[in-house]
Amino acid sequence: MALGQASGNRLELDGVGKQYDSPGGSIQALADVSFEVSPGEFVCLVGPSGCGKTTLFRIVAGFEQPTTGTVRPERTTEQMNMGIVFQEYHLFPWRTVGGNIRFGMEQLDIPTDKQRERTQQLVDLVGLEGFIESYPKSLSGGMKQRVALARALAVDPSLLLMDEPFSAVDAQTRRRLQENILDIQEETRKTILFVTHDIEEAIKLGDRVVVMDKNPGQIAEVIDIDLSRPRSRTTPAFGNLYERVLDHID
Ligand code: ADP
Ligand code: MG
Repeated sequence: MALGQASGNRLELDGVGKQYDSPGGSIQALADVSFEVSPGEFVCLVGPSGCGKTTLFRIVAGFEQPTTGTVRPERTTEQMNMGIVFQEYHLFPWRTVGGNIRFGMEQLDIPTDKQRERTQQLVDLVGLEGFIESYPKSLSGGMKQRVALARALAVDPSLLLMDEPFSAVDAQTRRRLQENILDIQEETRKTILFVTHDIEEAIKLGDRVVVMDKNPGQIAEVIDIDLSRPRSRTTPAFGNLYERVLDHID
């Protein structure tokens, strides 16, 4: 499980739609969503609350079936194993930091010495040196999300899929986590699909930004972010991109 090379398949969404039916009526949560994420690419999906971001996340993760269209490869096939990070940390409270990170490796029957070595690597990668024996309840929100990220990376996923992963932490922690995920992406060359409602976050992180609008949730524009990193929101180029995204969302 080497770190550092882009691997895995291209993720392709083709004409994905989702309708929720209930006794009170039906909701077209997504309509005709098509885009691709290439191996090693960092794509941010941004849009207002209710535009179907979590629905799309759940479909890509394989938790939900689309009503129309296809997602390739499917999660159930061997080619696409995923590391998933939710907004709420979803850690196992009865396991230590190390135990949480090891979880997926245990499921895959990876040899114990390999598990130990890789857990240590990941603890260092996400900046949790010294906390390997700690329990989640003793950690801050930002630290918990670092554990969730390390746990997601532990199975060497071909896609890292994150739904508003930094929404529950304070602004300062959020900025640090943003820097972290960029460093991690640079080091591991993971393919990332990162969902956020925060325009600044999307422009700061993404190689490309998929902008969605709502009723029904659909793609408004896909924007290449041609800015070198680190990106400062105070530059005119950043400001222009911000306005361009905002135009769709207002
Ligand atoms: P976002 O994550 O962008 O805020 P969601 O994907 O959560 O958007 O929701 C998109 C739309 O689909 C909303 O109108 C929401 O109320 C509706 N919706 C989401 N999940 C369900 C569900 N399980 N049943 C019915 N409607 C749903
Ligand atoms: Mg959501």
